[in-house]
Amino acid sequence: MAQLSHWLDQRRRTGGLRELRPVVRLGNGRIRLADLPDSLPLLDFSSNDYLALSAHPALMESGQRALAELGAGSGAARLMSGDLLIHHQLEEAVTSLKGKEAALLFGSGFMANAGVIPALVGRGDTIYIDRLDHASIYDGCQLSGAKLHRFRHNDLAHLEELLQKNPADGQSLVVVESIYSMDGDRCPLPELVRLRKRYGFLLLVDEAHGTGLFGPNGGGVVEADGVGDEVDLVMGTFGKALGSYGAYLAGSQEMIDYLLNRARSFIYSTALPPAVVASSLAAVELVRQSSELRDDLWQRVTFFKKCLCDGGLKVDLGPTQIIPITVGASDRALQMAKGLQKRGVFATAVRPPTVPENSARLRFSVTRHLGVEQLAEGAQALLAVVKDFAPELLV
Ligand SMILES: *Cc1c(COP(=O)(O)O)cnc(C)c1O
Repeated sequence: MAQLSHWLDQRRRTGGLRELRPVVRLGNGRIRLADLPDSLPLLDFSSNDYLALSAHPALMESGQRALAELGAGSGAARLMSGDLLIHHQLEEAVTSLKGKEAALLFGSGFMANAGVIPALVGRGDTIYIDRLDHASIYDGCQLSGAKLHRFRHNDLAHLEELLQKNPADGQSLVVVESIYSMDGDRCPLPELVRLRKRYGFLLLVDEAHGTGLFGPNGGGVVEADGVGDEVDLVMGTFGKALGSYGAYLAGSQEMIDYLLNRARSFIYSTALPPAVVASSLAAVELVRQSSELRDDLWQRVTFFKKCLCDGGLKVDLGPTQIIPITVGASDRALQMAKGLQKRGVFATAVRPPTVPENSARLRFSVTRHLGVEQLAEGAQALLAVVKDFAPELLV
């Protein structure tokens, strides 16, 4: 097809073509690019496996046991014969973790967002999303057919302006992330729930990057901010800090009863396999049992940021485990990512359209796979490429 090759050529020419790079995991946060077998091992600063749970013995053993006892697949959708007891056990664990009445599992975070939004609103309704909300939220909005307004990132005054300008006849829905995946900053949830009281919208909070890391029980930012009762629905994934795969929505019993009848990505999709569910269950139990893992992560995050500050980087490194170094142009971010690879560090260059024009960045995430030495090494490599390509970011 001429159109296809034209599109691909153009992407290749402008440096915007996405390509897969298989990696081999070597342990201790090191990976090797499988297509360059002789290359240096790289420190992986691009993983969302923040607590290193994907390699935790409790998750692996729990998964192995379920695989041996229950088989590889669940065989059908939940509403057919794929509904296993272990799905309910995980939903109960999530319900406690989130302090909600009920929870519903989804195949992935993408499926949860793409399913829940069209279940809640449709033509005649209005959705307000943060401009930096994840693609799955945006796609859910498109699928719903509701009118969509995007407010400036974390700018609740702008949201309020839009709410006032658009007195919705139908239902209104606001969707935010608790921690933004590419900026690593935090949504001002206490202010947002004050707006919810005034304007009476439904509130959906995506905790993909907050679950397991924030709050006294690892329940997420919603728990940390004490706003659980004022958030109608909390979404989260098992694929990030919880080290497994799959996702959930938590809310009132009525809301969950409704979603299981209306969310098409739940109804028309095979139930998560038992081994994956068992690993997720072990992960939820681990983060609820003690704060040891998150305390350890936050110490590493603080250490990494201190290395960067001490090295003269004068960039706001933000409040979380996700650290964006914004450099502007896409090709600059790409060159810096290549420079980092030469120095043994793998960090992703995030470019438009994932982030707004002229805000291409290197995205560093700190995980418990990286020890003090590796973190110091990563910081030195970053400081060196900043010196080469973006010296204005140094004091
Ligand atoms: C990763 C992510 C998702 C998708 O979750 P998956 O389980 O990976 O499909 C949804 N929302 C946000 C904010 C994310 O970062």
